[in-house]
Amino acid sequence: MRTDAEARDEIVQITNELFSMGLLTPTGGNISARGADADCVWITPSRLYKGGLAAEDLVCIRSDGTVVAGTNTPSVEYQMHWASYAARPESTAAVHTHAPVATAFGITNQTFPPINTDAIFLADTKTVPWFMPGSSELAEAVAEALKASRGAILQCHGLMTVGKTMRDAATRAMMLEETAKILLYCKQFGGELALIPNDWVERLAQLSSFL
Ligand SMILES: [Zn+2]
Repeated sequence: MRTDAEARDEIVQITNELFSMGLLTPTGGNISARGADADCVWITPSRLYKGGLAAEDLVCIRSDGTVVAGTNTPSVEYQMHWASYAARPESTAAVHTHAPVATAFGITNQTFPPINTDAIFLADTKTVPWFMPGSSELAEAVAEALKASRGAILQCHGLMTVGKTMRDAATRAMMLEETAKILLYCKQFGGELALIPNDWVERLAQLSSFL
């Protein structure tokens, strides 16, 4: 269990990391974490520039969006964050990015062939069709997809990941982008993909729950 101060610090650290990696746009994407109160989560504010976020900018909200701490307006995607925690109750952090390659991967209906071990672990990732950002329909669809995998691709939008820790959630978001990028490079090179053999895919897939 985190303290509220730890929740805020982790959100700021991960937001800075993801922003510096180009996985968040200046105002697109949002990060949340559970703090001391089980009925609340800490989340990044709506529309605020993500390049210099401070702990004081964050807001603590209830599931209906009511702000219990902080002065900013919470992210419009707060319902998607709450639905994601409900879908994966073991999660303590949720990361929503607008990562460019993973987003293009979703728009073009790609799936992960076994091009490397990360791709095997990400093969259960579901693609969610477009729903209006901030809507309860999007929140429900993402939650359903997260029951199958700890990451989901949101068509024409971005991606959502959850984790037992903030680092787990962020790592999955980074893995999705990096693996989508490798697949993109493969398709740009052209030619036949050299895939990991099926028997190894099955053996490695069984390890994915440990990641
Ligand atoms: Zn978004």
